[in-house]
Amino acid sequence: MPASTKIAHSKNQPSLDRLHHFESRQDTLLQTIREFVEIESPSDNKPAADRMGTHLAQKFALLGGRPHLHRTEEFGDNLQVDFPGAANSKPVLLLGHFDTVYPLGTLPTMPCRIEDGRLHGPGVLDMKAGIALILFAIEALQTWHGELPRPVTVFLVSDEEVGSYSSRKITENLARKSAAVLVLEPAAGLRGAVKTARKGVGDYTLTVKGIAAHAGLDPGKGHSAILELARQIAVISKLNNLKSGVSVNPGVIRGGTRTNVVAAEAVAEIDVRIKSAKQAVGLDRKFRALKPFDKHCGLHLEGGINRLPMERNAGVIALYKKAQAIAKQIDWKLEEAAVGGGSDGNFTAGIGIPTLDGLGAVGEGAHAVHEHIIISALPRRALLLAGLIQTA
Ligand SMILES: [Zn+2]
Repeated sequence: MPASTKIAHSKNQPSLDRLHHFESRQDTLLQTIREFVEIESPSDNKPAADRMGTHLAQKFALLGGRPHLHRTEEFGDNLQVDFPGAANSKPVLLLGHFDTVYPLGTLPTMPCRIEDGRLHGPGVLDMKAGIALILFAIEALQTWHGELPRPVTVFLVSDEEVGSYSSRKITENLARKSAAVLVLEPAAGLRGAVKTARKGVGDYTLTVKGIAAHAGLDPGKGHSAILELARQIAVISKLNNLKSGVSVNPGVIRGGTRTNVVAAEAVAEIDVRIKSAKQAVGLDRKFRALKPFDKHCGLHLEGGINRLPMERNAGVIALYKKAQAIAKQIDWKLEEAAVGGGSDGNFTAGIGIPTLDGLGAVGEGAHAVHEHIIISALPRRALLLAGLIQTA
């Protein structure tokens, strides 16, 4: 073996030892992920979500964390866990969510199971495996150093999949006190890229009020809300500008009561995505400027941009560089990706705190029947997270 290779090898030995540590813990980690998946926790079921939150609080308390449940009325209580650390430095915030998009009773039709090196189950990728990675990274750092090298705040929310209305303020407050935010949402693609940019997300509901009439006896007296909405949708669709990263999708429409009645009401629900924060104002202004074609119809608009984009700024790039350096120690070329979906990382990036997202598991099929994670990628992900907790 040439001398230079030998030196490089010995230099990387601590990282390889860390990787071996996580490889030896892989089965236990897998068991923990299964345990989490088998506690169903849909966003819209408070008792179920609370069962998950309480279970997680106990898990983190066993590692010496101080759990605090932020009570909420409508959703599961949001879980904050504080860990003290050796250095007297700002904490790093590990951010995630324990709610899933799957209704209670999904498990019998979508059981948690291993197939071809993949673990399947509702919410396994998005993002119960990510929560387990947090536990194992913290545990490993404690094993290696006796205590955590710096203070760590874990915040796991219960309403991410439905807009984070109960948790957003807390997320932003915790981020402001932190040096950096690491988000354990799934990685992008099967190569496990981290997410350095996310689009901003919003939704609008446009309600049209028309005037009902008998479609046979008084057709001229009616003013159809459906016709008006159809014309509005044609206008709204022109707001799409895919080149500049703006997309607008009227994904749901409903209206009318019977075929022989001129419709008095029709509604469209519209998803919007933006690439830069600047686009939010202009797009919103265009929505608010919509005018009825039929003067007898009224328009009522609700909604707006919920999550501003996570933009690839200097803070994000610096975190990504640190992540790349950690990965390089085990000969892993860590890639980055920009994605269209939003997460709570959009909030923390939006208030200027360096944020790196997509640090969770690698897999496919988030929100779909084939949702799964790649088991063999877990040790590497844990190693990356542990390294970032130290250096972020
Ligand atoms: Zn998620």
